[in-house]
Amino acid sequence: MPANDDDYLQLSGIQHFTFCRRRWALIHIEEAWSDNLLTVEGRLMHEHAHNPFFTEKRGDIIITREMPIFSKTLGVSGQCDVVEFYADKNGVDLHGRIGLWLPRPIEYKHGSPQMNDSDRLQLCAQAMCLEEMLLCPAIDTAYLYYGETRRREAVDLTPELRETVRTMFAEMRQYYERRYTPRVKPTKACKSCSLKDICLPRMPKSGSVREYIDGAVGGAE
Ligand code: SF4
Repeated sequence: MPANDDDYLQLSGIQHFTFCRRRWALIHIEEAWSDNLLTVEGRLMHEHAHNPFFTEKRGDIIITREMPIFSKTLGVSGQCDVVEFYADKNGVDLHGRIGLWLPRPIEYKHGSPQMNDSDRLQLCAQAMCLEEMLLCPAIDTAYLYYGETRRREAVDLTPELRETVRTMFAEMRQYYERRYTPRVKPTKACKSCSLKDICLPRMPKSGSVREYIDGAVGGAE
């Protein structure tokens, strides 16, 4: 559990961490960032999905956008693109609403379904935050919406997926506390990585961005 608010890790970092540990460290430890087409498209889609503080009711579903979330247990904070609350006798009270409600997070992605588990892990982490914050029963299913297919994909939030979320955040916290940036291990994913010009994947021995800059500046003297 983090000692203070500044020690919470960003929940969305789990996508980068799954894609490449080094990419996560460059963004979240060394605070390097570089846009490419994929990240710009993704951000625009999120801005479209987000309508802060907006809640509406459609039939038996309450829809909330850009809901802040956190988990003391996982030591992470972030927000959900959309949370749908369904009327359910096993649900929880919501302020100002009659009845009992169960949440299901929905995460918007601009592309198509990933080969890896990054989107499902992010979604599962969101559900785990909601369960802890609202003291509600385990959420069994949540949804990913992909802009390319314009379809919702149901994701089973299995014990295995939940355990991977816990393991990844624990590993992430170790890196964060040690300020550790893993060394380059070039893969096919580097081609589409927005940080490839910063990361320098063709230099296998390069360590942190700071080491590279210090080396480059030192070499110029
Ligand atoms: S360029 Fe490759 S090694 Fe570097 S951060 Fe991106 S995915 Fe990771």
